[in-house]
Amino acid sequence: MTSSHLFNSNLAAISGPLIDTHAHLDDRRLSDDLPEVLVRAREAGVVAVVAVGVSSESSVRTLELSHNNMMVFAAVGIHPNHVAEAEPGDWDRVVELARERLPKLVAIGETGLDRYWKKTAFADQEAAFDRHLELARELDLPVIIHCRDCMKDIVDRLVSRPKPIRGILHSFTGTWDEARTLLDFGLHISFAGQATFANKNLDTLRDAATRVPLDRILVETDSPYLAPHPFRGQSNEPARVAVTAARIAELRGMQPADFNQSTTANARNLFRLDDFMKF
Ligand SMILES: [Zn+2]
Repeated sequence: MTSSHLFNSNLAAISGPLIDTHAHLDDRRLSDDLPEVLVRAREAGVVAVVAVGVSSESSVRTLELSHNNMMVFAAVGIHPNHVAEAEPGDWDRVVELARERLPKLVAIGETGLDRYWKKTAFADQEAAFDRHLELARELDLPVIIHCRDCMKDIVDRLVSRPKPIRGILHSFTGTWDEARTLLDFGLHISFAGQATFANKNLDTLRDAATRVPLDRILVETDSPYLAPHPFRGQSNEPARVAVTAARIAELRGMQPADFNQSTTANARNLFRLDDFMKF
């Protein structure tokens, strides 16, 4: 048994069931090794993973993974950084998949806005974001929102939408004031590995992580990205959601088991996972 196995098992023993609400399981870094990745996740106490598509092909692969693995659920969408390279017909394919109401398709995304990578013209990102929001609303599915360096743009986009907006601002790195605005729209807030990083400029994120109401907070890995400390820089995987959850529980002065019980209940309710599995 490796030391990371031991670490995960110990965390599972103290922390109880967890749900990784955001992982890119179709990424080769994870899909090449998926049975082992999911075994390690289970050992760490993870009972379900929401695998998130970033393109029409990735959405199809993500759905396949959800059909072949009991603990995996799927979200379909085109990530803002992949909108520019989408072929004609790709969005229609995503809509088709979503409207088919395939079992285990539990959310629309990943969508949102990104001013950091500049891979897609911003107006095109906005148009794609609006289409995802509309589709999610039409189908009464939660929407998974990516935001990089553009919180104000996201808020401007959402402010005129019908409320409440069912969904998640994922991998949140903003301030408590920004979180509060998103919570007022009806969204949940999900935290990833950044909560464990030492960087001083992430103290505002940690402050937000202590203040988001217990019935609206979620945890995720965003794997293979954003591995939490002490794994920073490595390829991330769902088992490590336990590390981030333990850190946020500590920040909130809570027992990990109590914190995890709440975030897991939130994920079950938001994604309606009880329709598919017993917890
Ligand atoms: Zn993502």
